Amino acid sequence: MSTITNIVYLLSAVLFIIGLKNLGSPKTARRGNLLAMIAMLLAVVVTLLNKQILDFTYIIVGLIVGSAIGAIGARKVQMTDMPQLVAIFNGLGGGASALVASAEYFQLSGGSTIIVLTTIALSVLIGTVTLSGSCVAFAKLQGIMRGAPITYGAQNFVNGLIITAIIFLGITFVMNPSLWIILMVIIGLAAILGVLSVIPIGGADMPVVISLLNSYSGLAAAATGFVISNNVLIISGALVGASGLILTKIMCVAMNRSIGNVLFAAVGSDGGTASGSGEQKIVTRYTAEDAVMMLDNAQSVIIIPGYGLAVAQAQHILQEMAEILMARGIKVKYAIHPVAGRMPGHMNVLLAEANVSYDLLFEMEVINDDFQNTDVVMVIGANDVINPAARYKKDSALYGMPILSADQARTVMIVKRSLSVGFAGEDNPLFYDDKTMMLFGDAKKMVTEIVQVLKA
Ligand code: NAP
Repeated sequence: MSTITNIVYLLSAVLFIIGLKNLGSPKTARRGNLLAMIAMLLAVVVTLLNKQILDFTYIIVGLIVGSAIGAIGARKVQMTDMPQLVAIFNGLGGGASALVASAEYFQLSGGSTIIVLTTIALSVLIGTVTLSGSCVAFAKLQGIMRGAPITYGAQNFVNGLIITAIIFLGITFVMNPSLWIILMVIIGLAAILGVLSVIPIGGADMPVVISLLNSYSGLAAAATGFVISNNVLIISGALVGASGLILTKIMCVAMNRSIGNVLFAAVGSDGGTASGSGEQKIVTRYTAEDAVMMLDNAQSVIIIPGYGLAVAQAQHILQEMAEILMARGIKVKYAIHPVAGRMPGHMNVLLAEANVSYDLLFEMEVINDDFQNTDVVMVIGANDVINPAARYKKDSALYGMPILSADQARTVMIVKRSLSVGFAGEDNPLFYDDKTMMLFGDAKKMVTEIVQVLKA
């Protein structure tokens, strides 16, 4: 039985890796998800059979309750709330690893090796930090807690002190495994550390933190895999740990920030509030009719989607508008910024939902040189990713972030509800540029009006 189990584990591991590879492109992402799900199912079924668990009652009850919560949660959650859902999933994953490792500790019959005890301590530590940190990330994103960084003097010193205490207690625990109380103190300190590490991080950086916590949950699972000698848990945990780290790095590079800056610099605001520069600037309000006049005369149009597109759920009507323009011989492309929206790949998922052809989607590096030869750039619910202040305003949270060069196009149309700032809290000078047409309104409503005028 053990050989069959290991072969199935190996098959699962291979499927996980192929699944991850497939997730790298929007074209193959669905297949990647499916392969990873099959791998997980295989791993779970073969583990249950191998361990010859005599009483499946709790497992079946757990499966029914868990599946029901998961299915209802996944169906109900809005696309824009997806980061919160991921945060909670990460947290629960970390918590589960910590619980399994703790349960294993209480089953130990003495004579455990240093390696087993060390991995128990590590699993409990990382799992608990992930759980409490993810709860704070969830609360910040859900608006239960203030999104702005919460800071106090000697913050890093206090965190350092807690880490030192945990290391000391961890060594003491490994040397004296019968002292279970030490493990409990480690759990308590780890929970505090998770909270204290996430509260100073601003709401705008939360997706990066979630990706990092995702990586931690993988590491906790891998450590638990060592505790219970389960190969597939070690492999899948390591894969989650590594891919979470890679994603964190990709996001940091896209925002031109170091991970240290994200974690310790307390950058960011609650998001969505006015920048309060106090300066009076003038913008002209344009209508759907004005927009259509411009579009009808254009030969090339680049659409830049952003977070507001997701809020308004305007992807389907936007796709309809693009189809009409293309049918009239206008060249239409979509420019995708790596951190547009609120999670990596957010815009790709949104546009895929509306069946926008992948061939029309272009990454920032590929399309940035095209803007100067483009007649109309249509910005739908995006703000930070086109904010030219990122190039020169040194005291801005956006400074240094590569942006889409929308300002280089001949005409810029911006569809949003007001002049309010984006997630990074920075005023956008492009709104006040002479070549910019501000189309104020909800993205879905405004694009629907444009489509009606186009069809009239
Ligand atoms: P953004 O800067 O947050 O701006 C979105 C704009 O959408 C807002 O200014 C808002 O303006 C508008 N909006 C909201 N609801 C709307 C609606 N119903 N109809 C029309 N417009 C609406 O978004 P972004 O340009 O996509 O930039 C993403 C930000 O998130 C960046 O700062 C990025 O660094 C950060 N971030 C993203 C990720 C990621 O993985 N994607 C990770 C980390 C950080 P109004 O209120 O005036 O309508």
